[in-house]
Amino acid sequence: MAALRPITVRKMLTPSLYIQGKGAIYYLGQKALPFGDKAFVIGGSTALQAAGERVKKSLASSGIEAVGWNDKVKECTHAAITKLAEEGKHAKAHFVVGVGGGRAIDTAKATAWKLKVPVISIGTQCASNADGSAESVVYTEDHKFLEVLSLPRNPVLVIEDTEIIAKAPPKYMVWGMGDALACKFEGEAYAKTRALKQDGELPPAAALALGDSCYRSLKEHGQKAIADLKNGNHSVDVDDVIEAVKLASAMAFENTGCALAHALHNGLTRTGQIKGEHGEIVAYCTIVQMMFEKRPVDEIREVAGWCEKVGLPTRLKMLGEPSKAALRTATDYAAEKDSNSRNMPNKMKPSELMIAIDRVERGV
Ligand SMILES: [Zn+2]
Repeated sequence: MAALRPITVRKMLTPSLYIQGKGAIYYLGQKALPFGDKAFVIGGSTALQAAGERVKKSLASSGIEAVGWNDKVKECTHAAITKLAEEGKHAKAHFVVGVGGGRAIDTAKATAWKLKVPVISIGTQCASNADGSAESVVYTEDHKFLEVLSLPRNPVLVIEDTEIIAKAPPKYMVWGMGDALACKFEGEAYAKTRALKQDGELPPAAALALGDSCYRSLKEHGQKAIADLKNGNHSVDVDDVIEAVKLASAMAFENTGCALAHALHNGLTRTGQIKGEHGEIVAYCTIVQMMFEKRPVDEIREVAGWCEKVGLPTRLKMLGEPSKAALRTATDYAAEKDSNSRNMPNKMKPSELMIAIDRVERGV
């Protein structure tokens, strides 16, 4: 007799090993060796210019040969993944090493999945929390969102060399914090929804705790970390924010889910009238979600105030000021079509979403 599938299971996805610190690339060779001695290194040109030599040295120190080396990753597309998988197959790679920001890492993860080999992520800036997750976001050649690939396993090793990350322009960290800000609020909405609807995996309390810890860390260290980066001072606050973005927010979002903030982000970007990076738009949309949820005013003010201090937008005029018609298109899409909106406890009405936006625009 076939076993009954439980309706609600609690599960937690994580990378096998996360190492962060100045010079952490040093560990690459010794920690990668159990996976084989033929590496296929994939990254963007800037990332491999910054970290390529150290990657090579570390692999070589453990007798690992870089049998493939591609520093031309620009966009995570199906064509790029297929081409790289061919290269990796030809080189008989035992594992893939992705080096760079979200696009390079996502491409490397999907390439490893096609090759059925493990993947290792090395982040070189702090705008993305993709390094530890088992997802790849695939785009078209002209950077239009196509789909999210859910991969069967997480990276076996994540290395965040803070010396390299701290040298990237500070704006990357601002963007990364904007995206990471959402994980607490979206995760809480997601958990409430799953408990109510009983229609999917329940996020473990550990994932919600990570979202909470991420938010506290951003609040405590975010402003100082950005100021320090601008002054070329690699402080402990910088390390704390890197951990909040790269580890806490990544594991929080992966083990809960996105909700209104990302649904509205997707709606706004589709209008073509919004200007700003992913993390900037998500930060603004997080404030809208909080307003929509009717969270306490003090809590909303705290988030909006923090955004202002670190340089994240709190008004639409900072994001290109889309027209009323564009806002209607965006809210219609977010409430009716975007799958993330199903992770809000109650069905969203576009008109209610417009009211929440209007309240945020009038000042929290
Ligand atoms: Zn995001």
